[in-house]
Amino acid sequence: MNPYDEINVKLAEASKHITNSVSDGILEMITTPWREIVVSCPIKMDNGNTKVFKGYRIQHNAVRGPYKGGVRYHPGANQDEVKALSSLMTWKTALVDIPFGGAKGGIQVSPGKLSKPELLNLTKRYTLSIDKFLGPNTDIPSPDLGTNSQTMAWMMDAYGSVHGYTPAIVTGKPVELGGSIGRDSATGRGVVYIIDEICKKLNLEPNNNSLVIQGFGQVGKWIAKLAFDKKYKIIAISDVSGGIYDNNGINIDELIKHYNLNKTFKDYKNVNSITNDELLNIKCDFLIPAAIERVINANNANDIKCKFVIEAANHPLTPEADEILQSRNIDVYPDTLVNSGGVIVSYFEWIQNLYQHHWEIDRVNSELKKIITKAFDEVYEKSRRNKINYRLSALSIGLDRVIHTANLRGYI
Ligand code: NAD
Repeated sequence: MNPYDEINVKLAEASKHITNSVSDGILEMITTPWREIVVSCPIKMDNGNTKVFKGYRIQHNAVRGPYKGGVRYHPGANQDEVKALSSLMTWKTALVDIPFGGAKGGIQVSPGKLSKPELLNLTKRYTLSIDKFLGPNTDIPSPDLGTNSQTMAWMMDAYGSVHGYTPAIVTGKPVELGGSIGRDSATGRGVVYIIDEICKKLNLEPNNNSLVIQGFGQVGKWIAKLAFDKKYKIIAISDVSGGIYDNNGINIDELIKHYNLNKTFKDYKNVNSITNDELLNIKCDFLIPAAIERVINANNANDIKCKFVIEAANHPLTPEADEILQSRNIDVYPDTLVNSGGVIVSYFEWIQNLYQHHWEIDRVNSELKKIITKAFDEVYEKSRRNKINYRLSALSIGLDRVIHTANLRGYI
């Protein structure tokens, strides 16, 4: 199964637990993207040669508001993957009840292999290939895997060169260009709020709980930093080249200094080096995939030794892995809930841009906490009430909201 089919299998299952009635036609509507854009982006490389990169923007569903979703730069980005991620955005924005639909974009590229001018040209070419389908009330991109606030600044500039100054066209921009304070840490902060809520429900103390994190990018690094500040014990962490392990806990402040200087964990003292495969098998309380898709699958799900899987990355588990973990009584908290902090603060950024206003950091973080905690409570309660796992609970809440709105608007 490709990733898009995998999401649709889960949606069909979740549709059995909704309050609105659902016919085959409605299921077809919610599992079919409204628009799929594929573009070729030729750019001149530094060596004078021209190279063509494939780009995508999939607009999955806009029943509840403008399309919203990140843009990723990754060699594995393809139409099925971007479709799957666009669908997750529809269910995520509906679950946390913010007025957006779902979309996702991507370019098939290894961003680390391009120079800064090449990345700038590629970003501008991609934006100008899809700009007619974007807009503050139409579709609002944000950063994802392999992109960051700089990428968003270039997208905003390219869009503005045709449509005029429009800060609300992207979120996750630099603060100097209208970005929201707190957006850089928002996804990681939301993940840590979710872990806090689980600990509260189960009377667990942070300092008695160990975390293993895969990924040390915008999401993974912030999870590590904020969890470390709250005294959780981070015993292993990795990036694409592998990771480090110390059962006594890693000092994340020291590690961030080392990583920022060296761009690698290599030579960090008094820890063991591990591969990404080994990292997933470490015995811990919370296992947090925060890098790429489908890293926990039928091949390794039986070797996982954690109590909880916290899906900070999008779609890190295949459906087979989901079933295996459930049969082994390992609780999985799903991506649509866990990593929603990013899109929640993107929503705040969009509001600030529309009103040309700036919120203080305390307001951003407290509003984020309010929204994500409410979504956690709803998912938790429905899971208990209907005796279903957290993924089905989260998807079914999102589905109900989308179908209800589609009904009100006369789509069905
Ligand atoms: P990023 O590019 O900033 O960081 C990705 C990290 O994963 C890096 O440390 C990289 O070295 C590591 N990595 C890449 N390939 C890997 C592999 N094969 N094995 C192990 N590690 C690997 O990306 P990010 O923004 O941190 O996004 C990470 C995940 O979180 C993605 O699934 C993304 O869709 C999801 N997400 C991101 C945001 C956001 O605000 N950035 C919001 C919601 C969800």
